[in-house]
Amino acid sequence: MEYFPLFFKLTDQPVLVVGGGEIATRKARLLARAGAVIDVVAPQVDAELQTLVSAQGGQVFLHEFVETLVERRYVLVVSATDDTETNQQVSELCQRLRVPVNVVDSPDLCSVITPAIVDRSPLVVAVSSGGEAPVLARRVKTLIETLLPSAYGQLAQLASRFRDRVKARFTDMELRRRFWEATLNGEVAEKALAGNLDDAEHLLETKLREGDVDTSGEVYLVGAGPGDPDLLTFKALRLMQKAEVVLYDRLVTEPIMDLVRKDAERIYVGKQRADHAVPQQTINTMLLELAQQGKRVLRLKGGDPFIFGRGAEEIELLAEHGIPFQVVPGITAASGCASYAGIPLTHRDHSQSVRFITGHVKDGVLDFRWGEFVEDSQTLVFYMGLTGLPQICAQLIAHGKSPDTPAALIERGTQPQQRVHTGTLATLETIVAQESVTPPTLLVIGGVVALQSRLSWFKT
Ligand code: SAH
Repeated sequence: MEYFPLFFKLTDQPVLVVGGGEIATRKARLLARAGAVIDVVAPQVDAELQTLVSAQGGQVFLHEFVETLVERRYVLVVSATDDTETNQQVSELCQRLRVPVNVVDSPDLCSVITPAIVDRSPLVVAVSSGGEAPVLARRVKTLIETLLPSAYGQLAQLASRFRDRVKARFTDMELRRRFWEATLNGEVAEKALAGNLDDAEHLLETKLREGDVDTSGEVYLVGAGPGDPDLLTFKALRLMQKAEVVLYDRLVTEPIMDLVRKDAERIYVGKQRADHAVPQQTINTMLLELAQQGKRVLRLKGGDPFIFGRGAEEIELLAEHGIPFQVVPGITAASGCASYAGIPLTHRDHSQSVRFITGHVKDGVLDFRWGEFVEDSQTLVFYMGLTGLPQICAQLIAHGKSPDTPAALIERGTQPQQRVHTGTLATLETIVAQESVTPPTLLVIGGVVALQSRLSWFKT
């Protein structure tokens, strides 16, 4: 992040605009909206700009820019002339004096830059690309415009009018936040957004008087998918934004963690293979205790919580203690990796069923009825199968599966670092041994793997 985003309070603060043309006027209009007292310096000044300046109580200096002007203690200087030399001079002087300076359309000369804005005052959304891709920033702004109905401004104003009273009613910060969340997600918001402001206000008044806020804790067991944040469900995202505490592990990627509410407490409970950071029992108890404290707890898990995720164990204890919980399915590694690798898990000609198998090696051995896996018309997917790979291939061959059966190891599926290693039961071990492979990896075996070379689409 090259620029630190801030909102600048300019009410009654002196700001200098250098330049008197159309662009200067446009800038001055925005500054006036924020209540700044604007001075303008330029040999010629547009009529609208003159009016703006006097309405705000500022002065117009009808001459070229002179350095002594900046000594008047402006909190911000905006240079909007078409003369590069003047712009340069203003920029250098201000930066020397540490006065924030913005030169229109010249990011290199700026110490502060202005974002594209969506104004639903008091709610304001600012979007910036740090001057690198202004057209993209404006596109994002337009997208947000369509997402935020104009009534959001009215809703924000309503919230603002009640702010002090709510603060007085709920001195506990957490309670206050819950009150606002319930209000702004519920009926009050619906009424306000539908334009029924009087009804909304009335209802808010009633809710404030009654003052009951739901303080019970709950747990959301949420599948985060295999790594690409675009594969999250809407429900996952909503609960990720709602929870106050999040317990996550190694499989949850950073881009996904970035979508968790910023002020949520984060607890890493990850497990490395053979190195259990936090024992399962402790995780189960932590979930219970946090919920009993009234917290909304997010248990975020890679893939789907009910597929090799020990999700059931985590909620069993909650169920015993009557703690409310929700389970949100996620895209499991088999689905995600297969799609992104171009391997259909089933296919009319090659595979009529698919098995999800844990390849987790316990005490050095994999204990299966291997004979069940030999049938050709099926796809086998081994989770946690990297260590066991040589054993899996050898056992399948030993039990009669053809050594030529296509097999693939998908590394960090759906993520920018995804790699797909393909071979056969006979060759995959050697192919993989030549690479330095980073977990997580998924092993897919069956005729469908042969389609990969034709159906692959995900470019990393
Ligand atoms: N609940 C998870 C699985 C947890 S077991 C799910 O539904 O996907 C952990 C195993 O999942 C890893 O050892 C690996 O085999 C597989 N896995 C998870 N994410 C993966 C990814 N992005 N790429 C490849 N394999 C993955």
